[in-house]
Amino acid sequence: MKKVIRYLRFSRLGQSNGSIEAQQLCTDQWITFNNAELVDTFIDIGKSARTFDRPDFIRLQKFILKHYQKVDYLLVDQLDRFSRNAGEALTTVKDLQSSYGIQVVSATEGITFDYDTPGSFFRAGLQFLLAEEDNINRSIKIRKGLYTAKVQEGRHLHRTPPFGYRKNGIGKKSHLVIHEDEAKIVRFIYENYLHGMPLYVIKKEVHDMGFNRKSNMAVENILRNPVYAGLLKVEPFKEFPGGLFPGIHEPLIDKETWRAIQSKINKPIKERVILDEELPLRGVLKCHCGNPLTGAPSRSKTGRYFYYYKCRLSKHNNISAIKAHEQLLATLSLMRLPEQIINEIIKHCQAHINKGLRSNRLKIITQQELVFEIEKKLSAVEEKWIMNEISKDSFEKWYSEYSNKLNSLRESIEKLKYQVDKAINILEQNLDLLVDMKHIYKQAALLQKRELIRMIFDDNLYYENGIYKTPTLISALQHHFLFRKEGGYLLYEKSGI
Ligand SMILES: [Zn+2]
Repeated sequence: MKKVIRYLRFSRLGQSNGSIEAQQLCTDQWITFNNAELVDTFIDIGKSARTFDRPDFIRLQKFILKHYQKVDYLLVDQLDRFSRNAGEALTTVKDLQSSYGIQVVSATEGITFDYDTPGSFFRAGLQFLLAEEDNINRSIKIRKGLYTAKVQEGRHLHRTPPFGYRKNGIGKKSHLVIHEDEAKIVRFIYENYLHGMPLYVIKKEVHDMGFNRKSNMAVENILRNPVYAGLLKVEPFKEFPGGLFPGIHEPLIDKETWRAIQSKINKPIKERVILDEELPLRGVLKCHCGNPLTGAPSRSKTGRYFYYYKCRLSKHNNISAIKAHEQLLATLSLMRLPEQIINEIIKHCQAHINKGLRSNRLKIITQQELVFEIEKKLSAVEEKWIMNEISKDSFEKWYSEYSNKLNSLRESIEKLKYQVDKAINILEQNLDLLVDMKHIYKQAALLQKRELIRMIFDDNLYYENGIYKTPTLISALQHHFLFRKEGGYLLYEKSGI
């Protein structure tokens, strides 16, 4: 009579699993039908087939080690009782037969797995693969759940909230809330990166501000994380597209800034730019070959330093910084904002000044009323003095107090009047400067200079054959391309794209 051990497993999670009773019934029938003898039964309840770490399965293994000579078959009702990992389960089936002479039997499927018979083993493999497919379907359900949670409900699902946020609530109610101290650092990083502060400087600054993330890429990761623009990155799911979807949390950065940062951070800039007042265009100006120009001083025979912009491929460009800067200023001096924008600026300035004027006039009126009152009091005091109604001491006391007040009021009125006149004068005298790119550039600090040039030329300022060249120019400044080449400083060739 063939001797059989039996392994039953019931997982509470898998509803499709037959109950232990059903499994027992099914395997009982096989035993009766095959006239076999049941040696022992091993049962795991509430254990998943994904793991071999099940107590009775371990007991079963120990039993086999000890008593394999007395056992012919290991009986299960279905193969997926064993494992949902096809490779792992097949190895077990194979080992049981080759090492212990025990064959695995699936009662429901009516198969006795025989490693030595190719067809049978193939069927075993197939059964396991089907079980594994079941597993995959389950993981698809989970992934679909994640997709819906993100895309339709806009929920941030990572266990740890990103820097700048905290997690509030649990389960489906959990959501991100801004942590203001950290958010300040995030905004600082975005703002300064956008305005050209090199990453190494940003890293140093935020460290001093208390940014404590240890990873080398922590700042870059913050710049790349769409969460800060209120977006969630979602993996595609089946026919549903992946991409960025709006989240329910409050953003720290507007979407336009975030997108601008992405195109900036994804541009490979090989050299890290070290800021230098003498070479404001280093890393901003490019060689005609596309490489950003580097720059360095070189010492002349007299011991003076001269600065140069150079291409890595030295024959391309080696421009004296003095010449380059002169040409740039000459180019900028040709650039003025168009009439329409100038008028807008004047309108805004005047509105602003008028507002100031009105409030100044009000101040002047109230102060003049005060002057009038005090003058009355002063003459009253004089009268009393003349009429001998007060002593010389009190007259002098009151007289000096009132005249002091009067003096300071008159002074303040003069000042207010002067400020009004001055404001109008300043506007009239400096409007020219306000729209004069050369002036703006010269007044700007180093980082602003770099940003201004990047902005005007849309990050596409090149140098070739002793002249600046650009395919792009911001629209506000395109109108006078008078100076195509005749200026001799800039060649503006609109790209065909
Ligand atoms: Zn080059």
